[in-house]
This record gives sequence, structure tokens and C-alpha cells, in this order.
Amino acid sequence: MKIRAAVLEEFGKPLVVQDLELDPPKEGEVLVQLKACGVCHTDMYTASGVDPSGYAPCVLGHEGAGVVAEVGPGVTSLQQGDHVVTLFSPECRECVNCKSGKTNICLKIRAQQGQGYLPDGTTRLSRGDERIRHFMGCSTFAEATVMPEVALAKVDKSASFDAICLLACGATTGIAAALWKAEVEQGSSVAVFGAGMVGLGAVAGAKLRGAETIVAVDMSEQRLELAKQFGATHTILASSGDPVEQIVDMTDGFGADYTFEATGNVAVMGQAVEAARMGWGLCTVLGVAGRGEKLEIIPRFLITGRKVQGGSFGGAKGRTHVPQLVDMYVRGELELDGFVSHRISLDEVNKGFDLMHHQDGIRSVIQFS
Ligand SMILES: [Zn+2]
Ligand SMILES: [Zn+2]
Repeated sequence: MKIRAAVLEEFGKPLVVQDLELDPPKEGEVLVQLKACGVCHTDMYTASGVDPSGYAPCVLGHEGAGVVAEVGPGVTSLQQGDHVVTLFSPECRECVNCKSGKTNICLKIRAQQGQGYLPDGTTRLSRGDERIRHFMGCSTFAEATVMPEVALAKVDKSASFDAICLLACGATTGIAAALWKAEVEQGSSVAVFGAGMVGLGAVAGAKLRGAETIVAVDMSEQRLELAKQFGATHTILASSGDPVEQIVDMTDGFGADYTFEATGNVAVMGQAVEAARMGWGLCTVLGVAGRGEKLEIIPRFLITGRKVQGGSFGGAKGRTHVPQLVDMYVRGELELDGFVSHRISLDEVNKGFDLMHHQDGIRSVIQFS
């Protein structure tokens, strides 16, 4: 079928929206008609050419939500008409990692996905004789996409697509980290470094868990205001002096029971470790640092009981946890609409990058008719 899609032709140049050919789903694959897609920092990072593992041409986008239009042979968990959220982090439930119950890092389609191919090593995207590669196994800057069944979360049909597409990446990363990775306890103290999409998700997750003190740290007053809306009880402007000292002051002089880092800056990661309470403070690192960068930790922080962990996608198991988060949104327990700052069309995708570049709002969402 013919689809409109935003293609990364050349690094550092705007994406080019054009017609492509999308082949039908093969064994274990599903054709999804996209309804909404978030524009994420990872898309922009890859488009810029800074990411050493990037490749072109490819169709970017990975925060999609839509409707199943067709299923390939062997697909059992999805059928035409189902509503789905796309998962760059699949959950096959069969590989050694999935079966362990200890990690969300599924091994099933990892190697091919990283190269821009579907699990059988080929692509469904083309123009003329030229094959176009997929991105993060998703390629959702397009009217439709073909993805493996194991990389789609089936969700409640009553949820709005522009809200739940955010659960494909950033929002889930923060929320799941607080709910299930760190398992924030009721009445506890929490400090979140970075009030972008992931950090705000961690704030929302901490609030859902009944944390008593939730401190948000960011460089932007505007984002800190937003953090208050999502449940932050205290805010710290990062430029106003050492945030660690201020967090210690706000948490009875010991530091926070739980800290979350959502900036990707290794110096901030160090602060998040230091701001965790001696004895049992748990620091969860969520930001993606540049290749080769190192996190320095004073060993005494560990000897005195602080713990450090990290989690891709916040440790969320996509097909299990994303539908649960959608249910929480539908029941009114989880606020997602406040994350959407701009609604744009596929043709305006480069404007979505510009808005992000100027730190204007939290998320631009592409809407498909
Ligand atoms: Zn993302
Ligand atoms: Zn797996």
C-alpha cells in the first residue's frame, strides 16, 4: 500500500515527507494504521547525525498509537480493529530474559531491530527499487507501519490516541520507574532531577504511589510549574545553588528515600546518587548519557547504604505494563493530556523538532486523520 511518511534522507537536514510503499505484514507481523505519534528527543538526536548508530534513509518515529488494520500469519494476540501502542522495547515472553521475570530487556528481535530491519532481516518500506529501513522497530512518522506482534501493546479502545501515544516512550519510562522499578512507598520522600517528559512521569508515578514529599529539580521555571501540576510538593531551580543541599534540607536532613535522574547528564546523575538518603536511598538513573561518558560515584555513598539502578523504558514490560497504564488513564488516575503541548500534522514534523529544540512545551503530537 502507498503511505505518506517522514523520511530521514540525510543527517542534519529536515525530514522529507513523501509517498512510500509499505508491504503487507509477514509471519508474526501486524499492519497498524497510525492515529497519533509523539515527537521525541531520540528522533531528533538520530536526525542530527550525532548518534553513532544512526543510519539513513529511514522512517523515524517511535511513539505511536493506532488501530490494527491487518495481521500476518501466526499472529494470535491481536486482530483487526484492536487499538495498540507501539513498543520500541518488545516483550516476547519466550526469551531467557523475558522468562526470568527480572528484566524488561527482551532479546527476541534486538539484533535486527538495531540495524533497521524487521525480525526476518528485511524491510517493509520502499520507494521504487530502493529499500528504506525502519527505526527502533517502529517507524511511526507515517500513516501506517508494519511491526512484530511482540512489539505492540493491546490497549483499551476508549482512550484517546494523542494521550496514549506518549506511553510508547517517555511518559511510561518515568511512571513505570516510580511504580515498578523503584517501587516508591507511601509516605516516602522523592527527588526527581529533570522535569521533561520522563521526569514529569516519575513525579506522576511517585504521586500515584502516595509519596509525601516530591521534589522536582530543573533549569526551567516553566517546567517546574508543570511539575507542581503533576504532583511535585517542592521545586528547585537548578541554577539557584547546590540542589543536593536543598534536597537534604527538604527531607529532614538525610536526603530522599528515592531519587530519579531524567536528564542524561552524568554530573546530574552524580547529584541524584548523592541526594539519596544514607542507609537505604535508591537512585534510579533514566537519562541516556553520551557514548563513552562515565558516572563517578564516591564509594562511601554505597558503603553507607545508597543503592543505584537504571532502567531502559523505566523497566516497563511493554505488553504487560502499558495496557495497565492506559487503564489508569481511562479511570482518571493518571494525567496524560497535560503532557501534550502542541498538536501538529505529519507535514509539520520538522516544526515538532524546532519546538523541542527551543524547549517549547513538553511534547508535540502528530495527529493522523
Ligand atoms: Zn522516545
Ligand atoms: Zn523476550
